[in-house]
Amino acid sequence: MKNSSYSSILKSSIQNLRFLTSTTTPKPQYIITPLHESHIQAAVICSKIHGLQIRVRSGGHDYEGLSYTSDTPFVIIDMFNLRQVSIDVKDETGWVQGGATVGEVYYHIAEKSSMLGFPAGICPTMGVGGHFSGGGIGSLMRKYGISADNIEDAYLIDVNGTLLNRESMGKDLFWAIRGGGGASFGVIFSWKIKLVHVPSTVTIFTVSKTLEQGATDVLSNWQLVADKLDPRLFIRAVIQVQTVDGTTANNKTIQVLFQSLFLGTNSELLPLMKMSFPQLGVVAKDCTETSWIKSAMYLNNFPVDSPTTALLNRSLQSKNFFKGKSDFVRKPIKDFQLEKIWKLLLQEDQTPVLIWEPLGGRMSEISESATPFPHRFGNLYNIQYYMWWQEEGLSAAVKHVGSVQRFYKYMRPYVSSSPRGAYVNYKDLDLGQNEGLSTSYSKARVWGEMYFKNNFARLAMVKGKVDPGNFFSNKQSIPPLLV
Ligand SMILES: Cc1cc2nc3c(=O)[nH]c(=O)nc-3n(C[C@H](O)[C@H](O)[C@H](O)COP(=O)(O)OP(=O)(O)OC[C@H]3O[C@@H](n4cnc5c(N)ncnc54)[C@H](O)[C@@H]3O)c2cc1C
Repeated sequence: MKNSSYSSILKSSIQNLRFLTSTTTPKPQYIITPLHESHIQAAVICSKIHGLQIRVRSGGHDYEGLSYTSDTPFVIIDMFNLRQVSIDVKDETGWVQGGATVGEVYYHIAEKSSMLGFPAGICPTMGVGGHFSGGGIGSLMRKYGISADNIEDAYLIDVNGTLLNRESMGKDLFWAIRGGGGASFGVIFSWKIKLVHVPSTVTIFTVSKTLEQGATDVLSNWQLVADKLDPRLFIRAVIQVQTVDGTTANNKTIQVLFQSLFLGTNSELLPLMKMSFPQLGVVAKDCTETSWIKSAMYLNNFPVDSPTTALLNRSLQSKNFFKGKSDFVRKPIKDFQLEKIWKLLLQEDQTPVLIWEPLGGRMSEISESATPFPHRFGNLYNIQYYMWWQEEGLSAAVKHVGSVQRFYKYMRPYVSSSPRGAYVNYKDLDLGQNEGLSTSYSKARVWGEMYFKNNFARLAMVKGKVDPGNFFSNKQSIPPLLV
C-alpha cells in the first residue's frame, strides 16, 4: 500500500462506482501489473504460498466488482500492461493479450484491413480477458456468433503457475474458458481470434418511436421478426422512460430506439426492411453508409467525427453507479402485456433501461453445448436491465437496486423459465441468493444453470480436474465437482 501509484491503479478501471466510492469495499494487499507471462506465473505461485486470493482484472467492467474485491485477503493481477494486439491479415487471425480492450482489438483490425472484423460487444473499454471469457455478445453475433465462438487458441496460466496453450490444456479446459466466465480456471494471458469478413460498406440507422408514435405495435412486430431477419441485419431495441418533449418532467412516455447495423449497402438494406419489417418505416434518410469500424463507434454513441484512435482510450467510458440483470425471451410478449410493462415503468420514479438484443441467425445454428454459452436455438432475444444512477450513498443504491429487483421479478412470466436464463457477463449476485452465496456445487447450481444450463455440470467437472482445491474462486466462480 506504500507505492504512490497504488490508489490510482486500483481506481483506474473500476467501472461501477458502487465499488469505487464505498469505504467498505475491501482493498487488495498488493496490485501486480505484469509485463510478461512469467510475472503472472510468479504471482500465482506466491499468492498460494502466502494464502492470498487472486483477483484478475483486464478491463474492470465486472458488474459486481468481482475482479477487484474479495472478502478475504487478496492481490489483484491487473493486466493493463499486457495489451498487445497482432493481426495477421493473410491468415485472418489475431493474437490478443488478455489486458487489451475490445476497442483496441477493433482499432488494430481496422488499421490492417477494412474487410475484416471481430464479433464482440458494443462497449470499447471492456477487457478481452473478462469479455471473451464470458461469451461476448454484440452486433455481429447474428452473422458470426459471439466472441467465444471465434477463438482458436489461448494461453492460460493455471493453478500451478504453468503456461498452457490449446494443445497442452486439453479439449475440456479449452471448452470451459470460452464462455464459462472469467476467473474460475486460471489467468488468460492471450487469445488467438479468428477474424470475420465484413464488407467495406455497411449501413447504420437509429429510428426512435414513442408510445404516441406507435412504439408498442412496432416492438410487437420486432419481436416476430428480429431473430429471423437476414443474419447480416442486427436491430436492437433500447427501451427507456422519457419526458414528453416540451412538457414537464411528470409527463412521461416510453421511447424505443431501434439501433441497427447492416452488413451491406443502403440499396440492399431498404428493400429488405420493406419486405421484412415495414412497420418500422425506415427510409433512405434514416440510413448512413460507413465502414465497419465507424459502425462500431456509432453503436457506442461516439460523436460523429471522432477519429478511430478514440477506440484506444481506455478511460473514455463515463462511470456510473449501476446494477444489471439479464433474461432470455423465447416467446413474443403480447401487446397487452407490453402495455402492463409500460404502465409499471411509467409509475416508478427510477427505472432501468431495457436493452433487447436479437438472437437467431448463426446463434441458432451453434449447438447449446459447443461452448458454455447455452442460449441458442429457440431464444428470440436477450434482455439486459441496466439501472444506473449518479447520486452517491447507500440509500440511493438501495432505492435503485430495489427498483430493478422488483422489475426483474415482475418480468418472470414473460421470459425463459426452468431455469430462467441469465448471461454470465451481466453478472448478478442476486441469483440464487435465497440459497446463500456459496460456491458449493449444489447451491451454486441455482445461478450456474441460469447462466449455463446443462453446461454447468461439465464446467464444474472441468474445474474439479484443473483446480480441485478451488484456488481461483470468488462469489460466483465455478465450484469444483470431484467425480
Ligand atoms: C458499460 C458496459 C457495457 C457492456 N457491454 C457489453 C456488450 O455489449 N456485450 C457483452 O457481452 N457484455 C457487455 N458488458 C459486460 C462485459 O462483457 C463483462 O462485464 C466482462 O466480464 C468485462 O470484462 P473485463 O475484462 O472488462 O472485466 P473485469 O472486471 O476485468 O473482469 C470480469 C471477470 O473476468 C475475470 N477476468 C478478467 N480478466 C481475466 C483474465 N485475463 N483471465 C481470467 N479471468 C479474467 C475477472 O476476474 C472477473 O471475474 C458490458 C459491461 C459494461 C460495464
